[in-house]
Amino acid sequence: PKAFCAFILDREIAGWKPTHKEHKFGMRGCNTGELAFENCRVPKEQLLGEEEKGLRVTMAAIGDVGRGGMVGVAMGLQAACLESSIKFANERILYGKPIAALQTIQNKLAEMKIDLEAGRLLGYRAAAMQDKGLRSSNEFAVAKYYTTEAAQKAAKMAVDIHGGYGCMEEYAVTRYLRDAFILGPSAGTSDIMKVIIARWVLS
Ligand SMILES: Cc1cc2nc3c(=O)[nH]c(=O)nc-3n(C[C@H](O)[C@H](O)[C@H](O)COP(=O)(O)OP(=O)(O)OC[C@H]3O[C@@H](n4cnc5c(N)ncnc54)[C@H](O)[C@@H]3O)c2cc1C
Repeated sequence: PKAFCAFILDREIAGWKPTHKEHKFGMRGCNTGELAFENCRVPKEQLLGEEEKGLRVTMAAIGDVGRGGMVGVAMGLQAACLESSIKFANERILYGKPIAALQTIQNKLAEMKIDLEAGRLLGYRAAAMQDKGLRSSNEFAVAKYYTTEAAQKAAKMAVDIHGGYGCMEEYAVTRYLRDAFILGPSAGTSDIMKVIIARWVLS
């Protein structure tokens, strides 16, 4: 349809049902699925925004709320990758010493820390602008791109640091890797973030 309405639905109302739950390979703690509506009558008080302007409402929700949420998840994921990697690097003994003593491992830990700190500043800047009521969609696009790409990089490095154990499901880093790749498309892909950022710098 060219135009649609956004509305808030009471669970008790008749005429809708969940039809399909997606089986994602990551972020399984957050359900993703479809709802089907048939002869579902919604009181007009539950309309969100203006009639036939639902696209504006949903895009604002994805851009202003969803994207910021993904930035937060990405930062948490990076912090978890770093924490697990530090723990493992201190515990795993090779050549009579913890692997944390190897420069290769230290480089990875340092890169994770740099990305986490840089992404945090980008995320906080966008959030602070939003708190002040300023337009922050461009800043969130930068933060979303940076932190979700960094989360994927951090998860790969965390798995690498764990060596063979990084492939075993009893280690949380395997979940971090799967979760990190779900962050990519959620609330807009990295390609789309670049489209937004390019439009910003060219305007
Ligand atoms: C876990 C999860 C939860 C989600 N939750 C919601 C939700 O609650 N509500 C909701 O509305 N949506 C939700 N989505 C959908 C999500 O927003 C889309 O999957 C995402 O925006 C990508 O759109 P698409 O899947 O249609 O991919 P497509 O648009 O088909 O993209 C396919 C490929 O083409 C590239 N591409 C597309 N257009 C361009 C362009 N102009 N320039 C360059 N490259 C381009 C993309 O980057 C991608 O690589 C969710 C997705 C996931 C994975």
